Amino acid sequence: MSHEASPTRYDNSAFYARCGKSGLKLPRVSLGLWHNFGDGADHAVARELVLGAFDRGITHFDLANNYGPPAGAAERCFGELLNKDLKAYRDELVISTKAGYWMWNGPYGDWGSRKYLISSLDQSLKRMGLDYVDIFYHHRPDPETPLEETMGALADIVRQGKALYVGLSNYRAAETRKAADILNKLGVRCLIHQPRYNMLDRWVEEELLGTLEELGIGCIPFSPLAQGLLSARYLDGIPEDSRAAKPEGFLKREYVTVERQAKLRELNELAKARAQSLSQMALAWILRQRAVTSVLIGASRIAQVDDNLGALSRTDFSEGEQSKIDALLSAW
Ligand code: NDP
Repeated sequence: MSHEASPTRYDNSAFYARCGKSGLKLPRVSLGLWHNFGDGADHAVARELVLGAFDRGITHFDLANNYGPPAGAAERCFGELLNKDLKAYRDELVISTKAGYWMWNGPYGDWGSRKYLISSLDQSLKRMGLDYVDIFYHHRPDPETPLEETMGALADIVRQGKALYVGLSNYRAAETRKAADILNKLGVRCLIHQPRYNMLDRWVEEELLGTLEELGIGCIPFSPLAQGLLSARYLDGIPEDSRAAKPEGFLKREYVTVERQAKLRELNELAKARAQSLSQMALAWILRQRAVTSVLIGASRIAQVDDNLGALSRTDFSEGEQSKIDALLSAW
């Protein structure tokens, strides 16, 4: 039996925000499939996460060619779910994928050539059983391929109908400006930018967020909880089922030091005073930025999605709260 989605999933229209100056609206919280959707993952949990998120109004799911492990596995897992459970809802979903990191051996399976991007997207579409994705990203800038070639490939992908929109990820402000300009000249707008942004990594504040607003490009920060560090998960240790404890996880155990845990406990106290969990406050802190369309969370269980959706109950910060947070983070 395919899934019957909750009839109340769109009850809160304020949950959707316009992506830059485009016609597309995205949910303020989106779900990424970087971890917990590989071949070793529990597929019942993966199913609960995707269907549960959709039932809660989360229409946007973010993938990449290399998510797994092994690379490609997350797209296969998502494709199975789409096929079995969400076929009837394809037009209600915004599905993104990317290419830009290593995907296969040889000179054509990495970086930003036209050869790589077009072949990779074709593979992604096959793995997910889709005719098109909604957003296709170049995953990281390539210092060796002319930007005109990479952007030309993105524009052709849109013209061929293999992606409805295109985006950039991990591009600095000046590179974004150039890339968006090339795309504009080719008659295709850059829809969205996906940078890392969280309380512990604030590089986007210097120039990127302002540039995106000026250019009318949306912004969807990834790892908004610093891979789970900015949650209650590590306040008193490293739980065995956490990302930091897993060998395949990108958050390394050594990063969770006793000193950092002490800081996290202080942040947690600030969150409590706002009647929020630490993860809710960390997400609210990103959503307070005008340039931010949506936060791109990961989750290992549906209860985390519920917790994180609660961030929207309060996204304003008083000056006092801001300066306390700034002081705590400056010593991170
Ligand atoms: P987060 O910073 O949101 O970390 C997610 C992890 O935090 C979860 O897997 C879970 O870890 C923990 N967590 C989440 N919510 C809670 C909660 N309420 N309470 C306690 N723990 C919680 O994001 P990710 O690092 O997973 O990145 C999100 C998405 O961003 C990816 O899936 C991907 O789509 C995208 N991304 C893009 C990149 C790019 O280069 N463009 C790079 C990296 C990510 P646990 O397993 O310990 O429970």
